Amino acid sequence: MSQVYEEKALQALEELGLSVAREHLDSASQQAAAGQWSYSHFLGYLLCAETEARRHRTVELNLQFAKFPLQKRLDDFDFAAQPSLDRRLVEELATGRFLYEGRNLIFLGPPGVGKTHLAIALGVLTCELGHRVYFTNALEMARRLSLALSENRLHREMRRLVHPKALIVDEVGYLMLDKTQASLLFQAISQRYERGQSVILTSNKAFSEWAEVFAGDAVMASAALDRLLHRCTVVHIRGESYRLKEKRQAGLALAEPSVKQNGKKVQ
Ligand code: ADP
Ligand code: MG
Repeated sequence: MSQVYEEKALQALEELGLSVAREHLDSASQQAAAGQWSYSHFLGYLLCAETEARRHRTVELNLQFAKFPLQKRLDDFDFAAQPSLDRRLVEELATGRFLYEGRNLIFLGPPGVGKTHLAIALGVLTCELGHRVYFTNALEMARRLSLALSENRLHREMRRLVHPKALIVDEVGYLMLDKTQASLLFQAISQRYERGQSVILTSNKAFSEWAEVFAGDAVMASAALDRLLHRCTVVHIRGESYRLKEKRQAGLALAEPSVKQNGKKVQ
């Protein structure tokens, strides 16, 4: 009798698509017998293996979908090197609450201060929370949208940008957009705003300079800013480029003549 049900259990797990639980059934049953587990302990153990594997797979897929140019994590961010940044604010952002509030994040500052690093790190956390993220930079996004427009498939391209839980638009303002590109960027921002979905954006340009970003169109720039800033956390990062600082420190270390070996100075 019990063997019939063992067979049925395997079949049922298969039919229900619980392949990990199916794979673990035999070993889990043996562990349960040896450890005299309660029935619910056994069931919990078996189902947790399935949900864990699914969670893992979802995160992997989310990371693939995101197209991050590099993997950056918050743990690798040296807060001591960036005293202008409020660590507690970044830690609050890392809870992911901004995603559920549909809040946007804008990282502003000069090159090299960690804007892209932080945007990616928060994107990775979003993937780990089980959500889709899409990473792009302003120029690439605008180019892809213009191409899609000219090939009559704008709607599909726009969906890719509008649907993920978070859209990261890196490097807004590094290069000028033309009129069409600016208008398409505006449309994407606008559609995400209407859906209450977060945008994480990085820029080296102060808001007062955003007319330039939008092909000289001050009205469009202010309409875009209006939507972006309605629910938004703006993070200003000041200070020195991390790259330059590292280089400078390496340079100083190399130039340092008083390295001593066995008490003797070596040049
Ligand atoms: P930005 O986007 O502001 O120009 P990035 O985020 O690209 O700057 O940072 C440049 C490089 O320096 C990246 O490799 C990044 O990981 C690193 N970096 C910047 N700030 C920090 C920091 N505070 N701690 C660790 N790495 C940093
Ligand atoms: Mg950057």
